[in-house]
Amino acid sequence: RHIFICGGTGCHATGSIAVKNRLVEEVAARGLTDTVRIVETGCNGFCALGPLLLVHPENIFYQKLAADDIPELVEEQLVHGRQVERLLYRDPQTKKPIPHFGDIPFFARQQPWTLRNKGVINPESVEDYIGRDGYRGTARALLEMTPESIVQEMLTSGLRGRGGAGFPTGMKWQFAQRSAGDVKYVLCNADEGDPGAFMDRSILEADPHAVLEGMIIAARAINAYQGYIYCRSEYPLAVRRVQIAIEQARALGLLGHNILGSGFDFDVEIYQGAGAFVCGEETALMRSIEGKRGMPRPRPPFPAHKGLWEKPTILNNVETLANVAQIMLNGGAWYASVGTEKSKGTKVFALSGDVNNIGLVEVPMGTPLRSIVYDIGGGIPKKRKLKAVQLGGPSGGCIPEAYLDVIIDYEEIAKVGAIMGSGGAIVMDDRTCMVDMARFFLDFIQDESCGKCTPCREGTRRQLELLEKICAGKGEDGDIELLEELSSMITESALCGLGQTASNPVLSALRYFRDEFDAHIKQKK
Ligand code: SF4
Repeated sequence: RHIFICGGTGCHATGSIAVKNRLVEEVAARGLTDTVRIVETGCNGFCALGPLLLVHPENIFYQKLAADDIPELVEEQLVHGRQVERLLYRDPQTKKPIPHFGDIPFFARQQPWTLRNKGVINPESVEDYIGRDGYRGTARALLEMTPESIVQEMLTSGLRGRGGAGFPTGMKWQFAQRSAGDVKYVLCNADEGDPGAFMDRSILEADPHAVLEGMIIAARAINAYQGYIYCRSEYPLAVRRVQIAIEQARALGLLGHNILGSGFDFDVEIYQGAGAFVCGEETALMRSIEGKRGMPRPRPPFPAHKGLWEKPTILNNVETLANVAQIMLNGGAWYASVGTEKSKGTKVFALSGDVNNIGLVEVPMGTPLRSIVYDIGGGIPKKRKLKAVQLGGPSGGCIPEAYLDVIIDYEEIAKVGAIMGSGGAIVMDDRTCMVDMARFFLDFIQDESCGKCTPCREGTRRQLELLEKICAGKGEDGDIELLEELSSMITESALCGLGQTASNPVLSALRYFRDEFDAHIKQKK
């Protein structure tokens, strides 16, 4: 019997380490050590309910545990096979307990492909990972495929970059493959910095070897010998687990010289960033690794031609890379069998805000946003009305209730004025002031602007001043028009994506909730 106890950052913060220690003590005290294996996993996904655990094979899900609950849980569940009802998950609407993991709507309606190992392996055990088909994708890519056929498989899969822009991953790899040069690099962007986003952190904490596999396969495709994972230092647990994974992979000949006897050499190092949002921008990230101040530079040249240290470079985010090994193992056509015409596979979202079920969600592309909020998210607490969902963080936009049937698809989401982004989904109920929401995101962006170019440095400051003035009830006629004028000027002339998308939350709030801006201004008169 296994007990999978969540050991993600969220559960650690709510006391899962004390719960686990007590569990270890109780299991030992009752002489169950030979029959019960306690496994600390990465993020289980249902973050709002931590500390939580799953008793396998019965698949009974326990939530919001305290260390003092453990003696009863061990006695009842492990000794007598009886559920402890007060610790079970309850349906937020009916209040009835739902004991079995698979019956809980939050889990039942998801399709965990990228998150396939979350909550069921010890991320610090390479054996656990190998037991779940780990490194078979790498073996296939290195021993049975050519660099060209790896890229072809990626093109067939239709996988698009999950960091936000949605550029086809296979095409990016093909450009780098065809770039001349003996020295090339593979980078993993783990600098997730959007407010409300925790997808990449959770993947690294729960399944670090999956990301390493993606990097090894990418490296083989372009013949790179060195990779870097650029991870913000605010993610210490992710950094620690990735470091352990790198050392385990080196020890097993899965990284380093002559990987799996293929004759291919590749190694990976972690580079810790200091938490600047702009360092998630690819050219700024590369500068930071080079030891310079993390500031973007104009493109072209694109990194596939001139990236890190002016060498051809692939940069993919954590979620993108975590899909690669499964694509090699099951084939690009398998991956492309799910999704819409132009958006294939699944997408991970960090669901938060005014929603009953806060956590990590993975759904097939094509799923309606309404289904994420209501079927998986359990709807809005206290039966309040939904006002909007902010998708894509500070670079994204809000989607009002009237457009909630939009499907998860890069192009369809863009049509309603938002972006897929990296997957932050913040739900807002009818009490939310949308002017204040726009001010919040602009305040973040203004703070994170690197200051290199005037439109972003000065323009966002002026926008923020206007929004603060309107929020304070001091807005005047003409302020909204000035906000719009500044927005189009910044979008058109800012140097990098941070500035080019900085106005998106303001513009989408104006598009759907202009009456709230007007009401704030009229309030003054
Ligand atoms: Fe820096 Fe903003 Fe210009 Fe980007 S747009 S280079 S973040 S000042």
